[in-house]
Amino acid sequence: MSEIACSHCARSFSEELGYCPHCKTPTVAQKEQNIIAAQKKFIRYFIALVVFCIIMILWLPR
Ligand SMILES: [Zn+2]
Repeated sequence: MSEIACSHCARSFSEELGYCPHCKTPTVAQKEQNIIAAQKKFIRYFIALVVFCIIMILWLPR
């Protein structure tokens, strides 16, 4: 367990928390994880949209 300084309020807290308990600012590592999670969510939504389009193209009468 390591202590890191908050980039916003400069107070130290445990790195494992992922965010500052004083001002709720996420750590750099936590921010990166949030971005990765958002990208994964977007990719899943995009795949669902593509699958939906393919189904509609095949299903709709020509
Ligand atoms: Zn802080």
